[in-house]
Amino acid sequence: MKTTDGESPDSLIRDGIIPNQYEITMSLEEFQENFAHAAYGRGIKDSQEKNICVVCGGEASDFRDEVSKKEFSISGMCQECQDFTFGPPPE
Ligand SMILES: [Zn+2]
Repeated sequence: MKTTDGESPDSLIRDGIIPNQYEITMSLEEFQENFAHAAYGRGIKDSQEKNICVVCGGEASDFRDEVSKKEFSISGMCQECQDFTFGPPPE
């Protein structure tokens, strides 16, 4: 048996000709962590442990509400940077 369509994409991936996109995907968490290192020179987890802001490096211990606190546990941003990123809170 011989297929007529030549090399299949599978064999190209196997031979390393086409990078396998499934191997370079990473979790959102990893992506954020890598992005933070590249953009701000520090990691999100590291910043959270030290209670500093991953973006500005300032103290991140004073939050307006539970939502902002939760946001810090996700993105590592202080209240000011959250306000800057997400806009001012609704009046
Ligand atoms: Zn900040």
